[in-house]
Amino acid sequence: MKRILLFLPPVLLGVTLLILVSCNTNQPQTGSSKGQIWERHLGAVANAPLHPGEAQKELNLKVDLIPEGKYGRRLSREMTPRYITIHSTQNPTGDAHAHAKALNRGALRGGVCGYLCWHFTVQGDTVVQHLPTSERGEHADFDGPGNRYSIGIEMCEHKGNDQLATMERTAKLTASLMYHHQIPIENVRAHYHWPREGYNPPNKNCPHFLLENGQPGTTWRWFVGRVQRHHQRLIAFDEAQGGQKPRSEGARRRQQMAQRLWRTVSEFVRLG
Ligand SMILES: [Zn+2]
Repeated sequence: MKRILLFLPPVLLGVTLLILVSCNTNQPQTGSSKGQIWERHLGAVANAPLHPGEAQKELNLKVDLIPEGKYGRRLSREMTPRYITIHSTQNPTGDAHAHAKALNRGALRGGVCGYLCWHFTVQGDTVVQHLPTSERGEHADFDGPGNRYSIGIEMCEHKGNDQLATMERTAKLTASLMYHHQIPIENVRAHYHWPREGYNPPNKNCPHFLLENGQPGTTWRWFVGRVQRHHQRLIAFDEAQGGQKPRSEGARRRQQMAQRLWRTVSEFVRLG
């Protein structure tokens, strides 16, 4: 009996640990709770259809392009965007305008053409555009598909910036770009998704605050879900205009192509 009692505490400890471990797997992961907390702060994305022009106005987009033929635009390299790549600056001091200034004077060196460049920098209250979406940037993977086919978006991290508002503005910008360029949600990528040849590890921990342990997980999926809901509002507007039931993917794409043609001869100048 005494012997059995002596064995009881370790057995109980083992059982307790087992219960704790099994309970833990049922708890939300850190990333999931991060997304849930952010979702509560932001509130759910509205279901109401939204005019794509109104959505664009909400972005508060400032166009401050790198001078044509210079620095990141010294080579004329056309691009038809197929993907959207999300980054964060990891720069505690520079806001979106400071990044525009640095790009416009060729201060950020690197990449294939000798100068880093990307399409948009987002902060809490503004989006600044640096490159037309019809030109390739240098922000992801040297001469890989991330640079050759994707629109690069940097989220600011400077002190005093509203991170939540930055993520939300980025989600809206991404949704608008998906709409205008017919880019599917699965082609919205974290920088992480584009391996960099010759680097160890090849996949960068970027945008770090949307990843778990340096990899896309529940927080990234939360962000992509948010993008998708903003995009759905734009699609819903088209459907409401047409007075039709939700269309098949093929019909939706045909309609989007017709809209794109119309836009090239009308008001849409920068994002399209
Ligand atoms: Zn990055």
